[in-house]
Amino acid sequence: MPRQAIQLPHRAIQKPARPRLHDILAEAARAAQFAGLDLDLLIHLQWSQSIKDSTSPIHGVRLEFVRSFFLFLSRLKVLRRWLETSSPARRLSTRFVAGETLEDAIAVCRRLNAEGIAVTLDHLGESVTSLAEAAEARDVYLRTQAAIQENGIQGNVSLKLTQFGLDLSEAECRANVAQLVRHAAEAGSFVRVDMESSEYTDRTLLLVRDLHREFGCVGIVIQAYLYRSKADIEELCTRKIRVRLCKGAYLEPAGAAFPKKADVDRNFVELARILLERGEYPALATHDESMIEAAKLFANKLQLPREAFEFQMLYGIRRDLQRKLVAEGYRLRLYVPFGKAWYPYYMRRLAERPANVFFILRNVFRQ
Ligand SMILES: Cc1cc2nc3c(=O)[nH]c(=O)nc-3n(C[C@H](O)[C@H](O)[C@H](O)COP(=O)(O)OP(=O)(O)OC[C@H]3O[C@@H](n4cnc5c(N)ncnc54)[C@H](O)[C@@H]3O)c2cc1C
Repeated sequence: MPRQAIQLPHRAIQKPARPRLHDILAEAARAAQFAGLDLDLLIHLQWSQSIKDSTSPIHGVRLEFVRSFFLFLSRLKVLRRWLETSSPARRLSTRFVAGETLEDAIAVCRRLNAEGIAVTLDHLGESVTSLAEAAEARDVYLRTQAAIQENGIQGNVSLKLTQFGLDLSEAECRANVAQLVRHAAEAGSFVRVDMESSEYTDRTLLLVRDLHREFGCVGIVIQAYLYRSKADIEELCTRKIRVRLCKGAYLEPAGAAFPKKADVDRNFVELARILLERGEYPALATHDESMIEAAKLFANKLQLPREAFEFQMLYGIRRDLQRKLVAEGYRLRLYVPFGKAWYPYYMRRLAERPANVFFILRNVFRQ
């Protein structure tokens, strides 16, 4: 039964109706249809070990389609509202999320620092719908920066411009981010601006360039799946703006991004080389061992000291590889997300490795 209004003795509080399972399944089926998938086949694929890291077609369906399906799900509001308010689902989110509160996140950061791993903290949230929400996000980030300093954490923050109001007012968004960058400049810290889908690339570059000119301590993210990224990286190198290179996590049209993973991988290696050669303290963000090995080889060839660049990974992914890099003396920073708005971030992680669904289902059945 949908709950609509709860009568309290003095006033009625209108609670948003929680979506019903039927609505969610209907929306998921529509999404599957959109992505050209048959749900039964998709479920079968999740349980198949053979899809773990393969890019070859299975039963005529390529992993690219499965990825598109999860990225499509990541934008479904009804599914998001249902999962983010469900306590069993919240428990599952702990695989990739450090907790709901700043205190949870700081505790995780202390542990990681003790293992020789630096951090970048991300307060989950994107695409706010009011400037008041954007200001709230800014304030959480200001508190996060203060907590990093007070606790002596070796780390900084990463943020998304749509969480700071980019869709609503470019001027307000810029003012919000400028407050954080100014604060970082005073504290000798740094702010990383994440890259979202390609409709935001130009505006993100423009804002970061301006803030970098004013304060210095701000960097950007470039996605190897975009055709334009080589030109962007060349330009950022000449401006000495720090770049985090990643493969890219959004659903992009074939006109903007390489549709094939092999092309994205090839471009990642090429861009990583440019950054290692002439970038400003580059960050190579990947869990892909072949990308990491290629970067190590090239850095050796250039005789770069270990302090000249860093690897970055996401909290909760490839802990074995994280430990190995630290043991080899490489610099490693983990992206540590925290907060309640975990759904879109979580779905992007499933899109990267659909076999994660298998582990999640196994945990559900264990509980
Ligand atoms: C620090 C950091 C910051 C990022 N910031 C951004 C950003 O601002 N904008 C953006 O678009 N993207 C961002 N990303 C995400 C990135 O674009 C990729 O989607 C993600 O890193 C997966 O790509 P990969 O390089 O690890 O390679 P893949 O080829 O996707 O994966 C290589 C191997 O890594 C492991 N792996 C990868 N992902 C997972 C997972 N989710 N679960 C379990 N194992 C996995 C698997 O073993 C897989 O075979 C960021 C990634 C990192 C690490």
